[in-house]
Amino acid sequence: MAKYTGPACRLCRREGVKLFAKGERCYTEKCAINRRTGAPGQHGAARKKNSEYARQLRESQKAKRYYGISERQFRNYFKIADAKEGMTGENLLTLIERRFDNVVFRMGMGESRRDARQLVTHGHFLINGKKADIPSIIVKAGDVISVKESSKKSEKIKSLVENLDNRTFPAWIDVDKQNVTATVTKLPTREDIDFPFEEHFIVELYSKNS
Ligand code: SF4
Repeated sequence: MAKYTGPACRLCRREGVKLFAKGERCYTEKCAINRRTGAPGQHGAARKKNSEYARQLRESQKAKRYYGISERQFRNYFKIADAKEGMTGENLLTLIERRFDNVVFRMGMGESRRDARQLVTHGHFLINGKKADIPSIIVKAGDVISVKESSKKSEKIKSLVENLDNRTFPAWIDVDKQNVTATVTKLPTREDIDFPFEEHFIVELYSKNS
């Protein structure tokens, strides 16, 4: 599947749920989900299908769009998750949750995952003191993510740091606001993912196709 480059709000409307791709706007009345209902397009409302396959497909799309990852990456994550002990759906979500771009977003260094990913690829962050500019890196327990010293002067980073008091952080990351670092204190569990995924639909779909 080609990378989607269209309006982020359209994806939320398609999935009928907030995917939080636009930072602060997502929490205001301007959010398209607050203003409109139904899928985008002339036949949006009529498009709703409730077959088992449609539910599986929608739930998978939702997860890919929430984390902003491609079909190819998602399929790879599924293979890894399926090969691990435990519940495949939980393995899948907790693995994706550990992506570097997601962790950067979770530590408050990005208004959205999309924003955090761009900051990562621009080389603003370090993992354990070493340059890290690949969004798909999977962090490990004990990893320390920090902002590159020279990047702390950037207006964008400064404004994100100023806003840290308004952000909440997941229990598996310890954020030091003073030094703008985040330590991965433990690996995330399903309970740490605050989005109502119904991952069993994803597992049903990808098990058929793997
Ligand atoms: Fe989705 Fe945010 Fe747009 Fe609302 S404002 S529709 S949550 S991207």
